[in-house]
Amino acid sequence: MGLAQEAARVAAEFEYSDAQVNKAVKEFIRQMDEGLEKSGTSISQIPTYVTAVPNGTEKGLYMAVDLGGTNFRVCSINLHGDSTFSLTQSKVAIPRELMVAKTSKELFSFLAQQIANFLKTHHNEHYHATIRRRATIHSESGFREQEIFNLGFTFSFPVEQVGINKGNLIRWTKGFDIADAVGKDVCKLLQDEIDALHLPVRVAALVNDTVGTLMARSYTSPGKTGTLLGAIFGTGTNGAYVEKLDKVKKLDTSNANVDKTTGEMILNTEWGSFDNQLSVLPNTPYDNSLDKETPNPGIQMFEKRISGMFLGEILRLAIVDMVKERKTGLFSDDNSSSNDVHSTTCLSESSPLWQPWGLDTSFLSIAHGDNSNGFKVTRQTLDKDYGVHAASAEDAEAVKLVAAAIGKRAARLSAVAIAAIVLATDKLSAPKDIATADDEPVNEDEMVDIGVDGSLVEFYPGFEEYIREALQQIEGIGKHGEKRIRIGIAKDGSGVGAALIALVADKLA
Ligand code: ADP
Repeated sequence: MGLAQEAARVAAEFEYSDAQVNKAVKEFIRQMDEGLEKSGTSISQIPTYVTAVPNGTEKGLYMAVDLGGTNFRVCSINLHGDSTFSLTQSKVAIPRELMVAKTSKELFSFLAQQIANFLKTHHNEHYHATIRRRATIHSESGFREQEIFNLGFTFSFPVEQVGINKGNLIRWTKGFDIADAVGKDVCKLLQDEIDALHLPVRVAALVNDTVGTLMARSYTSPGKTGTLLGAIFGTGTNGAYVEKLDKVKKLDTSNANVDKTTGEMILNTEWGSFDNQLSVLPNTPYDNSLDKETPNPGIQMFEKRISGMFLGEILRLAIVDMVKERKTGLFSDDNSSSNDVHSTTCLSESSPLWQPWGLDTSFLSIAHGDNSNGFKVTRQTLDKDYGVHAASAEDAEAVKLVAAAIGKRAARLSAVAIAAIVLATDKLSAPKDIATADDEPVNEDEMVDIGVDGSLVEFYPGFEEYIREALQQIEGIGKHGEKRIRIGIAKDGSGVGAALIALVADKLA
């Protein structure tokens, strides 16, 4: 078989038909419902205690901090009340020794110190004024209410959230390991250290980055109706959406921490774990090999087919397979007569392509988007970054075909999640007087707004178009429904989004 046919055969393994997409949407809705009823399900549907989305008129000065992995980010956000905002920020790397400190106090006092430094640098007047007054005011904290900065705390580790600013750490990930923090309320750990420094800051909200994305989009969105869904397609994938409170059966709504005024609550779906049992998800030998290489086989199976952390590795596995199957001729070195695979290819022995996780997902964007003569851009990237020194145009075209198939499948799977949430929340059941003919123009107030963030949706060429192509073929959405779905990039969920959650929390307090 020639290289072109072989590439087409591998690419075809990643096809995900309209019928399969429709079946997956139904199963996604079923698993969402299951998550509303009880805990321990595939789609977790975690209550966030955030019960309203902004409409763009919110005003005020708020703070946000983000403890995500390698860095700690501190920012202040001025919401102007007209869908715009200004943001000031600083970022510090977290010292390795604090990630594995003996006590959580060591880490959290460092974080509080960064907040103090930020206030001194960027809000000096406010800082000094409040410090001066501290001795003369007799409120519990020593500050006047209007002097306090409300802060949204984006904490990207697994927590069991029990209130808008209360959440117990389940376990550390990403290289952190501080035993005494596990099981404790991370907001309180931070607040205690902020109080020890007498800072005029209140940890008002614990924020998941998807909820931040939803809030950021709702504030900046051009429409009058609030945003339905915030979704991330970056290193990982996840989404948060607005659900009717009475559908969240597993939540005890008599609990004082639950605000019932809007009748709604934002849920963090944790959809990366959709269909871990692979009842409707596509599966190829490459997906299987990838899953085995991960520290959590059998888990996050949806995410492993969609997000940036994994797509590069799927492509790498497919490429290595094609190279080892020497009869395909991928990257073959025509001048060699050896039987050793390393010396019969133009792939150097030290090429990152031989190493698990050696291929970055950004390469898929490069290959897919390469319309240069003879796929020069792809060949240069292969040469410079991946030790493939004499790839032919045919090689590059074969790689592009397979990369495109992996990217397209990821986008169609993303459409499954989006469609399921739009359908489950009944957002397209138009009033009778709204026309539903495919070619009718769509009114502004018929729009269903979705905020997205992450490198994949931002940079992968045609990602949104592929999502839209799939949406058009989904029962209950169709061509007209697809037109009613507005997808917009919502940048900076952990900054402005977290500030907006702090604002909502402040109103509830
Ligand atoms: P995070 O989700 O960690 O906040 P990003 O949204 O930037 O950060 O996502 C990072 C992921 O996106 C990485 O897995 C990286 O491989 C991938 N990525 C980076 N650039 C691109 C690109 N141009 N096209 C597709 N994927 C990319």
